[in-house]
Amino acid sequence: PVDVLTLGETMAAFRAGGPLRLGGQLSLSIAGAEANVAIGLARLGHTVRWVGVTGADELGALVLRTLRAEGVDVSACTVAAGAPTGLIIFEPRVADLIRVTYYRSGSAGSRLSEAEVVAAFEGGAPRVLHVTGITPALGDAPRAAVTRAVAEAKAAGATVCLDVNHRARLWSVERAAATLRPLLPSVDLVVASDDELPVLVDPGADPLTTLFAAGVREVVVKRGGDGASAHTPHLTVERPARRVPVVDTVGAGDAFVAGYLSGLLDGTDLPGRLDRAVTTGAFAVAARGDWEGLPTRAELGLLDAVPGTTVR
Ligand code: ATP
Repeated sequence: PVDVLTLGETMAAFRAGGPLRLGGQLSLSIAGAEANVAIGLARLGHTVRWVGVTGADELGALVLRTLRAEGVDVSACTVAAGAPTGLIIFEPRVADLIRVTYYRSGSAGSRLSEAEVVAAFEGGAPRVLHVTGITPALGDAPRAAVTRAVAEAKAAGATVCLDVNHRARLWSVERAAATLRPLLPSVDLVVASDDELPVLVDPGADPLTTLFAAGVREVVVKRGGDGASAHTPHLTVERPARRVPVVDTVGAGDAFVAGYLSGLLDGTDLPGRLDRAVTTGAFAVAARGDWEGLPTRAELGLLDAVPGTTVR
């Protein structure tokens, strides 16, 4: 069995050099919240399986080849006939504002179903299951896949991590709430940006009290450049963001989750988990691309070097 199992859609990712309507050059990579987390964990030396559906096309081959190259297990994935690999395009519009365009409706990735989950659990349950609020927003079959994965993981005693990752373009807060809140009794660890808490908690209610009462054991709240906090019923830890030159903020949240889960797998305490999370989050914002700049285990200490240092 692997340390971490995660499931979702991985898209081909184009990054433009300027406004799309002016044309010009694009660079090609892959992106998807769960794949970003998987790559982050693999780089830190953990065994991780990503499961999803790719198109029977060259971009699907790019997705699988890249994940394999990063050491992510893709053995439970399937290739869909007749549906293309989804696309995401990042367009730097002005200064550090990046506009994102998706071409994902009807994509192969949205054909993810319980069948892939069953295959992914063959050979044993992972130590940690990581799911996001993006996957169940992709359609009925992906929603059933997430529900099944959470149930299987819970039954096997695995730790279940949910990153709310609300995507307003895919579904409303109300629909997200109706799908995600029933999962909470099976979720051990919730990760959310502070503005995503209303998906899980009614207005006026105290988020931490409500989530702990629902059965969650640990809550981690991200605040972008203002850092993050981690909470259990007995302990609260706050960390500022690490000061790095900000190059590209996309993927910070996923990198953060990879660091947090890595600390959890290593048996690190709450402050140690949060320290690793803000470190991997900072690596993500300090480099171009969703996951390209993420550290290996040996590189984790690099941000402690004096700025401007040449590492020889
Ligand atoms: P995204 O959706 O772009 O992946 P997110 O909104 O899920 O991001 P953020 O809260 O933006 O997640 O970032 C997650 C963590 O990454 C933060 O808690 C922080 O530790 C780190 N981080 C984010 N922005 C910065 C920054 N400007 N400088 C340093 N660290 C940052």
